[in-house]
Amino acid sequence: MSRIPIVAGNWKMNKTVAEARELVKLLSGGLGKISGVEKVLCPPYTSLSALSEMLAGTEIGLGAQDLHWEEKGAFTGELAPNMVKEFCSYVIIGHSERRTYFGETDETVNKKLRAALKYDLIPIVCVGETLEEYESNRTSEVVRRQIAFGFADIDPAISSSIVVAYEPVWAIGTGKASSGENANAVHAQVIRPALSELFGAENAQAIRIQYGGSVTAANASEFFSQSDIDGALVGGASLKPDEFIAIVKSSQSSKGA
Ligand code: PEP
Repeated sequence: MSRIPIVAGNWKMNKTVAEARELVKLLSGGLGKISGVEKVLCPPYTSLSALSEMLAGTEIGLGAQDLHWEEKGAFTGELAPNMVKEFCSYVIIGHSERRTYFGETDETVNKKLRAALKYDLIPIVCVGETLEEYESNRTSEVVRRQIAFGFADIDPAISSSIVVAYEPVWAIGTGKASSGENANAVHAQVIRPALSELFGAENAQAIRIQYGGSVTAANASEFFSQSDIDGALVGGASLKPDEFIAIVKSSQSSKGA
């Protein structure tokens, strides 16, 4: 089964609207020349409107970094799925920073995932173990739990649009990436089998699984050359235009596109 690689840049809490426009100007020429890869930019909410106008008609997708599951109401500071959908085709759900700092749980991930799918947003759902869990050999147990609860009650018929980002927490923003081999083992031996249990083998084969955690232009091909790594969720390096373009390019060449 061939899966189209997907590389997404998570800009986190960086860039004003003017700075975001500037970054897109620097990215769009280089990214526009790369085919056979889905390219997604996830800026802060405040830039979504401006960037959706700039990216209209291009092959660069736009994503939000979070959403709320309710359609409207008294939820100060939150954005409903239909509001996200006004500007975006993608949304990141369950990033470890949201789990760590903002009380995100497998239950809220599940509510957000179901809301995103209802509004035809392509969800990029993050899973991954902490350093302590990694060091006590609990990666498989933790990731299986995150998938079993976070992905519960989803119609298997629409499951193939989900993107999973395996992001070991110890590798995010630390400069200490996992190895391609280690990440691929989690993708192939833990994540895909867990997806298969929920959605059936055929649907699970179609689901893209990204790696995330200190991906750079220098190490990207080590990940993309693996059988079950279908792209990357990139934090820090997505703010550096040449670096991000090089990462996207290497996902294309590694998959022979
Ligand atoms: C992320 O924020 O999802 C991430 C992987 O960050 P970094 O690439 O900076 O490790």
